[in-house]
Amino acid sequence: MFEPLLRKNAATFGAQQKFGQVVEWYEEVDDGVIVIVRDTQTQKVKKYKTKYLIAADGNRSATRRKENIQWHGPGNLANSISINFKADLVPYLGTRAVHGVTYIMNADFTGGFRLDAGGKGGFLIVSKAKGRETGFEPDSVFEKEAREMFEACSGIDAEECGFEVDFISYWTVAAYNADEYTSKDAKVFIMGDAAHVMPPSGGMGGNTGVADAYNLAWKIAYVLSNKASPNLLKTYNQERQPAGDFSMHQAFSRLVNRVFHGKGLECEKELPDLVCELGYRYTSGAMVPSDENDMERSYENPHDPYVMPGGRLPHVWLIDVDGEKLSSLDLVKRNFVLFTTDSGSPWLQASEKQGISIDAYPIISSSQPYLDFDSSAKKVWKLKDGEALLVRPDGIIAWRAPKMTSGHDEELAQALRIVFKG
Ligand SMILES: Cc1cc2nc3c(=O)[nH]c(=O)nc-3n(C[C@H](O)[C@H](O)[C@H](O)COP(=O)(O)OP(=O)(O)OC[C@H]3O[C@@H](n4cnc5c(N)ncnc54)[C@H](O)[C@@H]3O)c2cc1C
Repeated sequence: MFEPLLRKNAATFGAQQKFGQVVEWYEEVDDGVIVIVRDTQTQKVKKYKTKYLIAADGNRSATRRKENIQWHGPGNLANSISINFKADLVPYLGTRAVHGVTYIMNADFTGGFRLDAGGKGGFLIVSKAKGRETGFEPDSVFEKEAREMFEACSGIDAEECGFEVDFISYWTVAAYNADEYTSKDAKVFIMGDAAHVMPPSGGMGGNTGVADAYNLAWKIAYVLSNKASPNLLKTYNQERQPAGDFSMHQAFSRLVNRVFHGKGLECEKELPDLVCELGYRYTSGAMVPSDENDMERSYENPHDPYVMPGGRLPHVWLIDVDGEKLSSLDLVKRNFVLFTTDSGSPWLQASEKQGISIDAYPIISSSQPYLDFDSSAKKVWKLKDGEALLVRPDGIIAWRAPKMTSGHDEELAQALRIVFKG
């Protein structure tokens, strides 16, 4: 569902997408990376030279191993299966036939259902089952046992609801985070499951991988177009490695509290889903740190954010010139964005005099092209007249610009030098 959307959007930006290509070998050289790729259809091998290599090659990542990057965490926890099935569950679920997760934990089973919206199927995860004390070896579960597990976990007769197995996948519930997300020569980056693997409890694995990509993409774009120093790329590891650790531990806590409850496993305090999804903060990296204590906090409540560098720009509803409602987050595209909550701010002029394009907007009740119809920006963003927020292309606040009487151009240029690391 998600990949076709990604592919379509990538194509609109001119990305070349090739399938059936296997990276057989790569080597970092002084001015880039040599990569040998085999086409799995023709078996033809091609040599590429690239400035940087991003490896999203999954939890068994050959790249992570080649770079000798270790990973740590609670470890391998269970050999599980997902039974992907079709069944008519509507008569049993009624109005609850919506997309959702139901955990199962009893003397015989641990696992859970994840149902598709509409109640016509989904998958059943089984991590532990009676008679299967060591878990599930690949290809060891057949239709009959899958039906029995479905019946035991749901209490529904498989025949009666038209239960049919689509396929069964075998996977290890594991929790690890890589010690480094970048090679020693800083030209190879790992992301997604190659960098962190976590239990599906909480649905954070894929999301954390997308956040890795979001973090690195603009940095590489700025470096390749000579807008920023290659030192900027070091902030990928600086920011994302602790973020991966945070998500991995939160996913593990959910597993312990909901599935492996009572097994004596120690875990970190479970934080609300919203905090995990939108509240993680970078405490150092591509930003101008503030003197405030809040800078040191690695997460915040998205409903009451600190609005400090390293945190996500809080959402504010706006109205455009056509009267359409949009979020302030929609204004963050490919450029840095500068927001003020007073008109005629010198920061707006300063943003036009930098070496990069900055989208600058005053957000007040009468501003154009976007207006703050309920006057909430000032309060939500904790901005006073004369101040400004500088936001990165990934929606992270880079700097809180203070009120000044003069020197705005140079102060903004200096802030960008700090963000870009030289
Ligand atoms: C049961 C289950 C439920 C989940 N539910 C959620 C959820 O609700 N929300 C969520 O966010 N996450 C969820 N996850 C986690 C999510 O599926 C993974 O985190 C995500 O798919 C990882 O994506 P990835 O691209 O990093 O790695 P992968 O999906 O493993 O992809 C890696 C790709 O790299 C390719 N590859 C490997 N080596 C090479 C090579 N040398 N050359 C070329 N290609 C190579 C592989 O063929 C593969 O296609 C769930 C996981 C499981 C098991």
